[in-house]
Amino acid sequence: GEPLLDVRDLRVEFRTRDGVARAVNGVSYTVAAGQTLAVLGESGSGKSVTAQAVMGILDSPPGFVTGGEILFQGRDLLKLGKEERRKVRGARMAMIFQDALSSLNPVLTVGAQLGEMFEVHEGMSRKKARGRAVELMERVGIPAARERVGDYPHQFSGGMRQRIMIAMALALRPDLIIADEPTTALDVTVQAQVMDLLAELQREFTMGLILITHDLGVVADVADTIAVMYAGRIVETAPVHQLYKAPAHPYTRGLLESIPRLGHKGRELYAIKGLPPNLTAIPPGCAFHPRCPLARDICRTDPPPLYEAGPDRASACHFWRETLDGGKEIFDGAR
Ligand code: SF4
Ligand code: MG
Repeated sequence: GEPLLDVRDLRVEFRTRDGVARAVNGVSYTVAAGQTLAVLGESGSGKSVTAQAVMGILDSPPGFVTGGEILFQGRDLLKLGKEERRKVRGARMAMIFQDALSSLNPVLTVGAQLGEMFEVHEGMSRKKARGRAVELMERVGIPAARERVGDYPHQFSGGMRQRIMIAMALALRPDLIIADEPTTALDVTVQAQVMDLLAELQREFTMGLILITHDLGVVADVADTIAVMYAGRIVETAPVHQLYKAPAHPYTRGLLESIPRLGHKGRELYAIKGLPPNLTAIPPGCAFHPRCPLARDICRTDPPPLYEAGPDRASACHFWRETLDGGKEIFDGAR
């Protein structure tokens, strides 16, 4: 059926002192109800900016949406007025950020913050709202929720605070949740627990979930599809297991070769050379060419389109086929 979210050819620019930074350059992706899309990329790849445009928290300077469509439940959010947009954001989509401590109000108890959602949006009495807050805290796995509902954010551990943020996001039963690096600040074991919780709730409520991350390892078990971003474009998209098994873009291949993986013990890890480009001066042709071990002349002049690289996958590389089949030797040579 119709996707929950259908982002089409989105473009976002920032006015900076150094000129126009082209942060998002024609990004398209879809998320269905009950589906998890992981958006992977280095900092500055445009993954967060795309999400902020979807949430509608980018409508002011210095960032501007300069093109494209954001169809959510069939309506183009970019055509809605401010008030309508705010309503959609409040009730149907929610965002979870990396840093719960700065997202939660430090001078209100978590019970008051959660309860307020129900009082304001659902017109509940304070007492009833407080009861719902406790239920929600229990649902996200906060031990002794009834005793802790009157505690302040700083009295919880990082992992517990992240669970409270998830509870806040879930309170109004949104159809879409966008989680931007939700576990980056946490210990590895806690990361996995929080990620599992998100995945479990996403299934339980049949929500769409967008997981933004720079860490392939974190999303492997929970995502259905991955979109890899580089310099404001999607360079590869594929079902998660296919991408892990055989990436069709040299950048993805580099990312995979640079993380320690089971069964690759003792192998030297690859490091992608160089840095992502300055977004005010994106290289011509393929933006990745200065860092790509496969780059040839055409890569310096012709921007690769998103080639169909399989039934459910695409790659913005002129040499996606070689990357799929024979890229391994080339990368071994570049190690
Ligand atoms: Fe590398 Fe060329 Fe493919 Fe870009 S188009 S990723 S430079 S091989
Ligand atoms: Mg970011």
